[in-house]
Amino acid sequence: QMNNRMARALEGGEFRLYLQPKYRLDNLEMYGAEALVRWDYPGRGLVYPDEFIPLFEGSGSIVKLDFYMLEQACIYLRQHIDSGGADFVVSVNFSRVTLYTQGFFAAVLDIVDKYRLPHRCVELVEGTNASIADTRKTLPGLRPMEPVVDKLTALQQKGFSVSMDDFGAGYSSLNLLDKLPIQVLKLDKEFLRENSREERVKHVIAHVVELAHDLGIAVVCEGVETREQMEFLRAAGCDRAQGYYFSRPVPSEALQVPKKQAEKV
Ligand code: C2E
Ligand code: CA
Ligand code: CA
Repeated sequence: QMNNRMARALEGGEFRLYLQPKYRLDNLEMYGAEALVRWDYPGRGLVYPDEFIPLFEGSGSIVKLDFYMLEQACIYLRQHIDSGGADFVVSVNFSRVTLYTQGFFAAVLDIVDKYRLPHRCVELVEGTNASIADTRKTLPGLRPMEPVVDKLTALQQKGFSVSMDDFGAGYSSLNLLDKLPIQVLKLDKEFLRENSREERVKHVIAHVVELAHDLGIAVVCEGVETREQMEFLRAAGCDRAQGYYFSRPVPSEALQVPKKQAEKV
């Protein structure tokens, strides 16, 4: 049913852009936000992505949704800049299915340039929703990661920031760290849920941060719910954070973002 409704829902504007702010841990300033989709499904209210993204990855229509969300993020950024907003980065999630499609590079450039945005305002998130094996089912004849690496490298050369999502969980792993051309590594929220072996988790996080920094990669942690977790991440050298402790994802029109600093006289 959801798959059948998808095209109409796109045209009818049923997919909504939510933004969850991201903060620098050194000064606790908001520097950007992550774009997260919600489906305002007629008769049901807001439906969360975990319910429909796997379906769309199976049918291939995730490609349309990912580009739609990129465009919504660009519209948001254009308004933000036009109303005198400070530098701001919006991260957009891309499924592996989308990254593998022909013309991915050109389509990203087309959309972002249509809104005349500085490329550094858009962060492309290498999504890990689907495993390579699942992605192969949707796109038969798929080869290993090389095509994705080439596209992401090309986008990076165009000034976009590239981020690897959900590090430490699922299909995102150490063996991609030296393959993907990334500037930002996102630690999965599961890291913070492991209360039982707290000391060990601390060591793991601290060393992952160190490893990332040695590779010139910044680290952001998601799922930060308490002040304690925030302090701990800061002590571990983590650069940025995102989570309910700071803010839940909010409808894009409700996000309060910093204005440019007034010129000092
Ligand atoms: P994700 O990329 O790992 O995004 C983080 C998820 O954690 C979001 O769930 C967010 O609402 C939730 N979250 C944020 N802070 C906290 C916290 O402090 N505690 C806890 N427990 N959870 C927190 P959401 O919005 O339901 O999104 C689920 C997944 O759907 C995302 O996981 C992402 O993989 C995918 N997704 C969302 N929008 C898009 C999209 O436009 N395209 C693609 N391909 N995937 C998307
Ligand atoms: Ca994400
Ligand atoms: Ca995650």
